Amino acid sequence: MIIVKSVADLRRVRAELPGPLGLVPTMGFLHEGHLSLVRRARADCASVAVSIFVNPTQFGPGEDLERYPRALERDLNLLRPIGVDLVWTPPPEEVYPSGYQTFVTVEQVSRPLEGKARPIHFRGVATVVAKLLNLFEPHRAYFGQKDAQQTVVVRRMARDLDFPLEVVVCPTVREADGLAMSSRNAYLTPGERPVASVLYRALGAAKEALDRGEHDADILRSVMSRTLADEPVASEEYVSIAHPATLDELETVEGEALFSLAVRLGRTRLIDNFLLHEDEWSTGIIAEGSRA
Ligand code: AMP
Repeated sequence: MIIVKSVADLRRVRAELPGPLGLVPTMGFLHEGHLSLVRRARADCASVAVSIFVNPTQFGPGEDLERYPRALERDLNLLRPIGVDLVWTPPPEEVYPSGYQTFVTVEQVSRPLEGKARPIHFRGVATVVAKLLNLFEPHRAYFGQKDAQQTVVVRRMARDLDFPLEVVVCPTVREADGLAMSSRNAYLTPGERPVASVLYRALGAAKEALDRGEHDADILRSVMSRTLADEPVASEEYVSIAHPATLDELETVEGEALFSLAVRLGRTRLIDNFLLHEDEWSTGIIAEGSRA
């Protein structure tokens, strides 16, 4: 596993890697969710590259850029046994040198949901992913369903800007009680941690109502909201049932639908989603050996 920090070293090592190359972009503090993407890339591709970069341009003012958890040595030790070929861990000035001023904006699909709560977030995501795709020239890039809107934004950007690659979306990996794994779960206090499964429970309640024959999206959204309201320490930011490609809110749930929500729990902001896809729920997977 070759670990490099500069753009020049990255390009030099990349040039020697046999194709197809799979890229897994991350912000580090790796968990089973990230590792599932890396394993999938390892299974699919001749070479695997991982980037570990806490991207400052996707954090708004007052967000958690400074306190975002970092553990580089631990991350590298988790990646080694999977058989990663190249890891890029640039300092911010390598990605955004002085004078940097170019950004990628994906318009419509960046606006609702996370985009409303975090107005510059997807401009930062699209910009850093575009740079990673230019630098690594991967044949496939791997993203998690956990960040559903991010997958929509990245897919749209890759199509619109003619990046010649396949965007692969992998299922959400969950703790035993259903909480989606996230680096930000480290912020949860021991008291908040059991409450955090309320996102999964709210999605499950909407699924049950749908299974009982409720197709009215407003009613299904209120089922999610009521479940969240059962936990007074968790405050709802949004609940949504939207078309999975356009992210337009739906009136009725008939075919494909993305059920998503964001919740604030103390100082921590959590998101989760389910993708309803041709009458089948993609619920993600419970990590082996995970504990509630
Ligand atoms: P992050 O480090 O949070 O930027 O995440 C890097 C990649 O891992 C993104 O594509 C995420 O969607 C994905 N990811 C994060 N958490 C999970 C999870 N629980 N299951 C699957 N993929 C995940």
